[in-house]
Amino acid sequence: MTEETYEVFAIKYATRDAMRSGHFIGGDPHDGPMPMDYFVWLVRNANRTFVVDTGFSEAMARQRKRTFLRTPTAGLALLGVEAAAVKDVIITHMHYDHVGTFFDFPAAQFHLQDLEMNFATGRYMRHGRFNHGYEVDEVVGMVRLVFKDRVRFHAGSADLASGISVHHIGGHTMGLQCVRVATQRGWLVLASDCSHYYEHMEKGRVFPTTFHVGDTIEGYDRLRALAESPKHIIPGHDPLVMDRYPASRPGMEDWIVRLDADPKV
Ligand SMILES: [Zn+2]
Repeated sequence: MTEETYEVFAIKYATRDAMRSGHFIGGDPHDGPMPMDYFVWLVRNANRTFVVDTGFSEAMARQRKRTFLRTPTAGLALLGVEAAAVKDVIITHMHYDHVGTFFDFPAAQFHLQDLEMNFATGRYMRHGRFNHGYEVDEVVGMVRLVFKDRVRFHAGSADLASGISVHHIGGHTMGLQCVRVATQRGWLVLASDCSHYYEHMEKGRVFPTTFHVGDTIEGYDRLRALAESPKHIIPGHDPLVMDRYPASRPGMEDWIVRLDADPKV
């Protein structure tokens, strides 16, 4: 690998109780608890720092009845990153749990797919089926950032720097993108909601909030093609991520884990 490599961290900032039947189109014959965790991710090396998604605020957690643990910026601070100084934020898609604290990054440019802005401001947002994951004020906020030249639009795949690229997948939302990062253990893929849980991509199942089922299922193959191995794909909401990877430092178990380290299982 001649590319620069990066450290990659998953920062858990919220959680909620949920049932298996709520996570799969068609429900689940073996219903039972399946909690959902909420993450932002940090990708960095000596030269560059990228934050992937910005999570939601405590106020939004109350509004949507999620269990808030700490602000995403506080999680970043634990890794020595000052949100106000971050220059690059990758937004995988504009759902409230991925874009909600963009205002905490006043120096950042936001990397977004053309199709995600089209989707979030276009005809499908008439329908509750597609708009319930978005907050109109956040979408408007991102539009305002376009007018300040702070949104970097991408169409399909794009290299952001040596060893880091974004790739349009779609499916869950029209413009959903994943992030591919060169690490010491090979190519890692932050799938975000291209696969909410390991089980979605491993079993070819689909999360109920979905714009295009076909693109979601085809997307699982794209993730596998982009990653060094299936163990290099990190799902967007799976509590197993916290179990499988080592803590960033002692005491951070169940808060921040290091994804460029080998998984424990
Ligand atoms: Zn999500």
